[in-house]
This record gives sequence, structure tokens and C-alpha cells, in this order.
Amino acid sequence: MVKITSTVALAAAILASTATAAPSPAYDKGISIPAFHRKPTFNTYGKGLAQPKGLKGSNDKETALRFLSKQVGIPTAELEVTDDYTGSNGIRHVYFKRTINGLKVTNQVANVSIKNGSIITFGSTIATAKQFGKPQIDAPKPAITKEAAIKAAETATGLKVNQVAPFNRYVETAEGKYEFAWTFQVKSAPDAKKLQWYQVDVSAKSGKLIKATSWVQDASYSVVNFRATGPSPEKDLITVTDPADKTASPKGWHDDGKTQYKETIGNNANVYMSDDSGRQTTAKATGDNDYLVKFDVNKDANDAQNSIASIVNNFYITNEMHDLFYHYGFDEKAGNFQTTNFNGEGKGGDAVQVSSQDPGGANNANFATPPDGQEPQMNMYVFDTTSPIRDGGLDNDVPIHEYGHGISNRLTGGPSNVNCLDETESGGMGEGWSDVLAIFVQRKADHTRETDLVMGAWVANDPKGIRSVPYSTSLERNPLMYSSIAKMNEVHNIGEVWATMWNEVYWNLVDQAGFSDDIFNAAQQKGNIVAFQLLIDGLALQPCNPTLVSARDAILQADEVRYKGAHKCAIWKGFAKRGLGVKAADHNDDQSVPAECEGDLPSPTEVPTEPTATEPVPTVVPTVAPTETATETEAPVPTEVPTETEAPVPTEVPTETPTETEGFPTEIPTELPTETLVAVATEVPTEVPTETEAPVSSDVPTETEAPISTAVPSATTTDVVPTEIPTEVPSATTTGIATTTSAGEEVPTRAPTYPTRKPKKPTRKPKKPTRKPKKPTRKPKKPTKPTRRPRKTVKTPAPAPRYPAPPSY
Ligand SMILES: [Zn+2]
Repeated sequence: MVKITSTVALAAAILASTATAAPSPAYDKGISIPAFHRKPTFNTYGKGLAQPKGLKGSNDKETALRFLSKQVGIPTAELEVTDDYTGSNGIRHVYFKRTINGLKVTNQVANVSIKNGSIITFGSTIATAKQFGKPQIDAPKPAITKEAAIKAAETATGLKVNQVAPFNRYVETAEGKYEFAWTFQVKSAPDAKKLQWYQVDVSAKSGKLIKATSWVQDASYSVVNFRATGPSPEKDLITVTDPADKTASPKGWHDDGKTQYKETIGNNANVYMSDDSGRQTTAKATGDNDYLVKFDVNKDANDAQNSIASIVNNFYITNEMHDLFYHYGFDEKAGNFQTTNFNGEGKGGDAVQVSSQDPGGANNANFATPPDGQEPQMNMYVFDTTSPIRDGGLDNDVPIHEYGHGISNRLTGGPSNVNCLDETESGGMGEGWSDVLAIFVQRKADHTRETDLVMGAWVANDPKGIRSVPYSTSLERNPLMYSSIAKMNEVHNIGEVWATMWNEVYWNLVDQAGFSDDIFNAAQQKGNIVAFQLLIDGLALQPCNPTLVSARDAILQADEVRYKGAHKCAIWKGFAKRGLGVKAADHNDDQSVPAECEGDLPSPTEVPTEPTATEPVPTVVPTVAPTETATETEAPVPTEVPTETEAPVPTEVPTETPTETEGFPTEIPTELPTETLVAVATEVPTEVPTETEAPVSSDVPTETEAPISTAVPSATTTDVVPTEIPTEVPSATTTGIATTTSAGEEVPTRAPTYPTRKPKKPTRKPKKPTRKPKKPTRKPKKPTKPTRRPRKTVKTPAPAPRYPAPPSY
């Protein structure tokens, strides 16, 4: 196949000034050597252009060659076939290069497609006989050795030649000269921070670098900073250049292994917008590969420029999510989202399809996850409750949350089974993980456990965001407990409880082991990195349709395997603070921790610094683990319950019932999608956090569980849709608990599988090959079927409910 290369076009002057200098920082942005390209001729022939007898060859390839020869006026002997194949549509594609003195001219190519002797298309940058004229052609004899050419290129670029053998070819210049060149590849070192990889042509006559074609696409984007806290396009708009991670996206973000794109399409995502007729539009690159349309906050989301900015931001965020979580184990074999799986593992063909400003909804977003090998669909909507109307795709909380659904669904139950977060409790946890990922990504070094974060504040134009409470370690500002779930049957509310617990665990980990701002380096032992890793590890370990209890146990197990249990107490204490302690079950709180976890957590300085595993991209469960006989390792969950609680809880407890209603969004999404793509909040949440926290506060000090569990239920069953409470919750949740772990039973039996040795070359948990992938419950919506454009009018909020349903992100 013909490679479409991206050529960098800037001043050749750079070369002259740096040819003899040491590698300069200028090269961080790429080498810029101009390359001459003749404007291509391209003709299409509809049903095909039949060839007269004189041009017919013995086969289509021969006919194509004769046709080309006639078109450009160059003898067939000077046209070399470089590729030739017949597609499934029966069309034969024949590709050519012009040759001079038997050597290819690199920048003179042609392609002829032909079927049954008739030409279908013809494209060419070959100089016709007339254009060719009488050019200056270097003699095909090198005046300098290839070693000298290599040295010149290495010096000029700061890169090293790779193993591909140098060869000779001609390069046509803008001045109509044909330079005889040494051609080879130079590349950045394997451990270089940024991938650089060029095919270079060095004049075999003068030793000058005459052409450098980057095989890594440079690209710049005007976007909302991925890591911005409480992201907002008003304050976090940045320009990033070449953000693609070379490990996760070895060909960058615009190359799916078959085609290089200069639009928002690539191996990990295809981001587009549909118009009323269903036509899809991507954001197109300007310049080399730049996407620099800036978002204007004073204009509607639907403004033409803003629409493009949104497409670009969605492209940026989905690719960042792909790259980031690749390092933590959401990779090819784990069922990640890529058109081409370059390492051959897992199934390709499933880049995320993102419909930006999808016309099928408003004030929401969703993500449909089919099994590995099928493309997921992510729909982003505008929010018309603000003026000017805003775009969910520009509030990074939203696309991160949505992509998070893809991660949790593919990892839980294995890539082929995406129906494992489908019960009320597990579905709620799915919402929780998605919020957690957004929160984790946005954490900064200067945050403390007092730094609360909220979801979707910008898009809702509400500093309190779209959830009922902020993610906070304060029991006053966020009183959610495990037992709160007993009265919930709406997945986002349950998700808040789960994410709140994770926020506690996160801060215990960070307080114990510190923080690293380099979140793409998963090999570190810093607390926030460990949190990312345990979250992903736990997803792959946990059972299908986990409960909070079994998911907690999976996290503890993950810590045991990967970190030798170094964070066991930090994890236990985080969960126990929110009622998911050792004896928690059936939505009854318990705040006890294992005996060995009583007392304070170690400070960062006391934490052992040496990692247990050094592999840069570790994955989940060592396949060898189960065979080990575990005679000595301890169960992580002791059966006895400590009699007094840990420190953190009492100090933060409020003394009276807070009146806070600020946790609730003031605006009600008036339009919820009718499809069931993502668990949709059609009911009003039944849990009423504002009235529940008092009990937690009043009596934590000495005795743990009882007061909380008894008090909460009575406080929650207030006026809001009480009829839903009793019926749904118990049945939905008890099944999960019964079949999975309970703290007292199953965990001990699993514990002995911990290997005492370092997990060597971990691979992913083997999934059951026998299980036939079930049809996804969430049918991807067709983006090509627009129903309407979002209206610009500000909707009148629906009447009444004190506790409006949150948007079903
Ligand atoms: Zn969601």
C-alpha cells in the first residue's frame, strides 16, 4: 500500500543554521524541511473508461501502465509499479513511481484504478513529458558515502539512524532539479520523551539534508486543558502540540494504521457533528495538522466556530483518556477502543464514535459500550438551560465521565461481556467510577483532603455542579454513607456514594504515599498513581455486577497483588469512614477496620519506597497466581471487629443537621433522553442527603456501626417519592450481595492466592472464551438520524421537586 506521509513544510533555513550545531530545542517541535509536491491530477470516470485496443494490455495491471504512460507521456520503462492489489469491490489498484536511471523519484507518484479493462480513476503527481522538459539531473553516483550522509542527518536532527538500510533515490526539487539522494530513517531514542521519526533524503552529491518526512504527525489543538480542575473553556483554554502518547498511540492520534487523516479521525476516536440531514462533519486541519479554532464563551455552543472547537475538544479528551488509561492496563488485550490494535492483541475495529452536539438530545450525554471489536458510540449534547447555551463537550467532566463508562464496562466481566454493570447497584457504581476518573484526572499537587471537587459546574452554570453533593472528605459537606444506598434506586445517586468513598480512599493514599503530577507514568508508587492503578485493576478483578462490598474487596486484592498490600489500611479506612467497613453488608454501615489497620496511617516518609513491580505498563492479575499454594498469607479481612473507630471521623462531624441544600443542582434538566443508552435518571432520586447526616455526626466516637445504620433510613423517607423506595432497592441489591463476596465469607478463601513473589510479566485475567458475547443492552444510537437541533431558548425548569433528578450523564 502506498503510504501517505505528512510532509512538514517550513523553512529550509533551519537546516542551514543548525546543520553543524548540537541538537537544539528547536527540534522539539519537529524538523521542517520543505518538500516539493506537484499539484496532483485526479480524474474519475464513473462507470469506467473503456480502453481502446491499442492501450489494452494482457491484464489490468498492464492496461493501467499503458494508460498512465499515455497520460503523462513517459515511457512505460520509466514507470515502476510499487503496489498492486484488488479490493473486495473488484477494483484493481495499481500504484506507480516515476524512475530515472532506474531509481525511483520519491515525489512523483501515480495511481490508476481499473476494473475489467476500464479505468475507474487516475491520479498523478508525475511530471508530464512537457513539464519534465530538460531538467538538471544528478549523476547516479554518490559523491559522499552513506556513512557521511548518516552523520550529516544525525547531526542536523539530533536523532539516530535506525536499522533500515539506506538506499538511493531521486528527489525532485522546486527548482526542477533531480537530486540524487541517500534515503534512510532517523528516529528518537526509545526512552525519549517525544517520538520523532523521519524518513530523510540527504544529497549524495553535497551532503545536504534535502527532505525530511515526518512519520509522526505533528498536531496542535486549541482545547480545554485535560487536567484543569473544574474545567472551563473560559479560563482553561490552551494550545497543545503533539499531545499523543507514543506508547499508547504509536502512530499518533490521526492514523488508524491504514490511513492518515487531517481531521478529527484516528485510531482511537472519530469525532464529528451531524447536521439536520444526517451528514457528518469533522473538524479539518489547517496547516500541517492544526486544529486551532478557539472557543468563544460569549457565543452559543451552536455558533459555527464553537461547534468546531467542541469537536476538537471531544477529540482531544477521548484520545487523552485512551492514552492515559492505556498505561494503567486498559489496553488492547483488555478491550480498549482502537481501530487497529498494533500489537495484535484483543480486537480492533472499535474506535470511539463521538457525535459532538448530537441533535438527538440536550442537557446530557451518553456512551454505549458494545463488546470488544465493535465501535462504541458517545453522544454529546448541548445544554440549553444556560444563556448562551453551553456545550457538554467543552466541560471536560462530561466527556471524561462518558469515556469512563466505556472503561468500566469493558473491564468488568472481560472485554467480550459488557453487561456486567447492569444492576441497580453495579450500574450506580458505573456512574461512580466515571465521576471518580474525572476527579482523579483533575487533582493537583496543591489540593488537600479539604479540596472539594464538583462535576459539571461549567456546563450547568452552577458552582455546585450537577450532582447532589461535592466530592468531599467532609461529612458535613458530603454526608453520604454506604447505608444511604438502601434508599436509592437511581444509578447516579448510588454513583455519588461510590465516588465519595473513592475520594476518601484517594486522600488516604495520597496522604500516605504522596502525589505525582505525571499521571501518565503508572510505574510510580505515589498515592494518586496507586489510586488510578487500583481502580483499573479492581475493575478487571471484580465479578460481573459487583456490589460495593465485592468491588471494595477487588481493590484490596489488587493492592495485595501489585503492591503487596502496602495500601491495605489506607483503603480500608477510606471505605470504613463511609460505612463500608469490615462488617458492612446489605447496606448497613460498619466502620470497623482490620485490627492491624487501627491507629494512624503511615506518613509519606514511612512508606517503603521501592516498587514491587518495575514494568512500566503493568496489567492486572498474574496468570500464575492461582496455582500458588498459599500457606502463609493472611486474609485481608479479619473476622473480628475492632471496638473503636479510627480517628478521622469524629473530628469532622457536624453537631447539628446542616441545612445545606447546595449539593443539589438548582436547574432541572428538562429533557432526558428516551433511549436507554446509559442508565437514565427518569425517577427522582429517593435519597435525601440533606436530612441524613445528623445521625452520622452525633455518635461516631466510640461505637461504630449501629447509630448510623439505624438513623439514616428513618431520616430519608421524607416526602420525595416514597413509594419507590421500599419496592425496588432491596431486590436489586440483595442479589448482587448474595452471589458475590461478603466480608466474612468469600474473601478469606481468596486470600491465599497472593503470590509472595513479585508478579512477573503480568497478563490480564483470562476471560472465558466459551462465553458467547451477548448483545449489548445499549444499542448505539445512530448519529445520522438527527431529530432536531437544540433550541436556544432557556427552558423553564420543570416544576417542583425539591430534589430534581440529576442529568443522566
Ligand atoms: Zn454516566
